[in-house]
Parts: sequence; structure tokens; C-alpha cells
Amino acid sequence: MPTDCLFRDDSYLRDCQARVLAVTDQGGIVLDRTVFYANSGGQPGDSGTLTTADGARVPIGNAIYIDAAKTEIAHVPAPGSHALKVGDAVTAAIDWDKRYARMRMHTALHLLSAVLPYAVTGGSVGESESRLDFDIPEAGLDKDAITARVNEMIASNAAVTSRWISDEELAANPGLVKTMSVKPPIGTGRVRLIEIANLDLQPCGGTHVRATAEIGKVQVTQIEKKGKQNRRVRIALV
Ligand SMILES: [Zn+2]
Repeated sequence: MPTDCLFRDDSYLRDCQARVLAVTDQGGIVLDRTVFYANSGGQPGDSGTLTTADGARVPIGNAIYIDAAKTEIAHVPAPGSHALKVGDAVTAAIDWDKRYARMRMHTALHLLSAVLPYAVTGGSVGESESRLDFDIPEAGLDKDAITARVNEMIASNAAVTSRWISDEELAANPGLVKTMSVKPPIGTGRVRLIEIANLDLQPCGGTHVRATAEIGKVQVTQIEKKGKQNRRVRIALV
């Protein structure tokens, strides 16, 4: 039974009412709907709590997809927490401060990929530091120049919007895919595009802020050589 992924249409939702659909053999709790982003595309799964109608709290350490098509999410409870049963009604609430930091970071990585228009071979979103790996043969990237350009884009307060296109439309526009390591999920019939007005357009399933000024200032903290054709660029919120 697919989970209704509320975070895809509104990344600012902090909680929702839901019902337990299943408990997996590993103890993961599957809900009919959720605000928990599930670990994917370099962005970690959310933590938070599930609270029952009578006030029992189940701390959730992570959320993960349990099927290849990424339609079902299991909420991973802390060991020894109160056991939920199928049919239980719960309030699902995420650790908002952590998620919001990741939304700012994730959106900043889109801008970084616009400043460095090279193929992306990997990436990771953290609360205080994030990184993208680029397929660049030459060194000579300038930390300060990249920092300045990303902050200029942030200050322009460009709108961040999402829309869905069909697999066929994406196939007809292969230039939209910058990430070689993380292929957009094709096969469900539709792909989510994230557009940062006049700056960036790419398929992405992650959570983003509504406008770039919400990111605040960032700084490129390190550029490392990772193999012959790879440069790892780290950024931090400052
Ligand atoms: Zn994204």
C-alpha cells in the first residue's frame, strides 16, 4: 500500500494525522500518509515522533523506503519503544529544526550545481555541512569566487517551485539530468522537476525552501580532489 508522501507537495508541513497500515518484520511502521522525508538522493530521512491518541510517544530515528519504486515508507522506531498496531491513529511529527536546515542546505546545493555546470557524481545533505562531487578533470576552482556567486543567487531571492512531468518528457530532455549517480525515478510515469527561477531546473525528489533568501549565507569550506576526474565541494551555512 503506497504511502501518501505529503512532504512532496508541501515541504513545510511539520505534522499530520495518520493511520498505521503495517509493521514490517524489522519493526518499521508504515503509515497511510506522512510528513517524514525518507532517506534518498543524498538527503537523510527525517527523525521525529509518532504519538498515539492516548499520548504514547514513539521516537522515530529515520524514515526509509521499503520498495524499489519508492512508494512505501517505513518509520524506524527507537529500540524498545511502545509497539504500534495496524489501525492505530497517530500524529506524525518531524524534528523541524533539523529538517529546515536540510531544506536550506539542499536548495543551496542546487545553486552550487548551477554555479559549477558539470556532471554531479555524488552528494550528501547535512544540517551543518553538505557536499557535491563533480566530474571535473581540471583543478583550479576558486572557493571564494564560488562562495560569492552562490550568495549572490541566494540574495536574489529566486522562487523555488516544483512540477511534475511525464517520463516521456524527461526522456526527450536528457540535459535536465545533472546527477549521474542518482538517476531520477523513472517508471512510475512521472518525474518531479524542481525549478529555481532563472537559475536551475532539474529532477529532484528532495525537500527545498520556497525562495532562495531563506537559505541565508553559505560558504564553500573545502574543495578536495577525489580521484582523477572528481572534485568534492563542501559548503556550510554561516
Ligand atoms: Zn533538490
